[in-house]
Amino acid sequence: MLTDYHVHLRPDEREHTFERSFTTANAERYRETAEERGIAELGVAEHVYRFSAALEIWDHPFWRRYAHDDIDAYCAFVREETDLRLGIEMDFVPRREDRIATQLDGRDWDYVVGSIHFLRDLSLDTEDYSIWRAGESPEKVWRRYFETVAESARSGLYDIIGHPDLVKVWGRAAPRPDGDLRRYYEPAVEAFAETGVAVELSTAGWRKPVGEQYPAVPFLEMLVDAGCPLALSSDAHVPEQLGYEYERALEVLEQVGVREVAVFERRQRRMEPVG
Ligand SMILES: [Zn+2]
Ligand SMILES: [Zn+2]
Repeated sequence: MLTDYHVHLRPDEREHTFERSFTTANAERYRETAEERGIAELGVAEHVYRFSAALEIWDHPFWRRYAHDDIDAYCAFVREETDLRLGIEMDFVPRREDRIATQLDGRDWDYVVGSIHFLRDLSLDTEDYSIWRAGESPEKVWRRYFETVAESARSGLYDIIGHPDLVKVWGRAAPRPDGDLRRYYEPAVEAFAETGVAVELSTAGWRKPVGEQYPAVPFLEMLVDAGCPLALSSDAHVPEQLGYEYERALEVLEQVGVREVAVFERRQRRMEPVG
């Protein structure tokens, strides 16, 4: 079984409107490409901040710029007009857990991907609001990032923790702590093991400046030792990115001794042989 769950039906730029992207023809393009690449389990997980409902959780100016669409229209489109699994990429915002739960409850997700793109008001992975220009030490940013990842797992809001070491996304273009990085991963691994949440192996990192999958191999080894289930995704934003570098991902999984991936339906998880 191959899965691709963390998938966007549109690129991130604002000109890709709901009307342009959420069409049966577009969903069909994704389905066809997935079939060609042997991906049987295909789902979408659009960014929560493209929906106006996101502003009930957080009103960061970056979100205000993007939050225009109707979240229920998205759910209805995926459920009624496609055969794709219905997910969402729901940012974790500390101390807004109740507001996040309000947006998740009563909607019929197959899975919820938890992501951290911001620490307080600063962004880890965009040029706008970049944390890397704020003059904080990389040690502090990395420590806070993984503590927040741990907190997101403990919130119980999520089925999958997405791109779990996104903090490294810029590679050499951003400062990075020296030495063995496992000390940063530890609190996150502990929280994953405690809560049983699935952790995403995302091939998107191979398309980013860092040039490495999420999570890094030492992090992945710690997850395997702790018995954490893994979910496999590409974070595709166009059909061509579906199953991106999956052969390489399968090699990495084999190298660390992973034989199963998580499969989701209506927020129930089962494990299936990977490949
Ligand atoms: Zn993301
Ligand atoms: Zn994404």
